[in-house]
Amino acid sequence: MSVSNLAFELADRRAEEERAEGIRRVQQALRVKRLTLSPFCDCGELIPDERRKAMPNCKRCIDCETFIERQSRRAS
Ligand SMILES: [Zn+2]
Repeated sequence: MSVSNLAFELADRRAEEERAEGIRRVQQALRVKRLTLSPFCDCGELIPDERRKAMPNCKRCIDCETFIERQSRRAS
């Protein structure tokens, strides 16, 4: 194998590794984003893990949820 071929081979392998690394990084970022999605309520209260596990998209703590539910019930 000539030197230029070897260099090409190495560059190719490196590009492939970088691609795989990029995919890993994106997947990691998505995982982190899911985990860090609104861990805190608007009021600053930490939403309990149990609640977030049960309702992955919940954005409010139990107190605020109850408060808003009560308000919307009163409004309707
Ligand atoms: Zn709250």
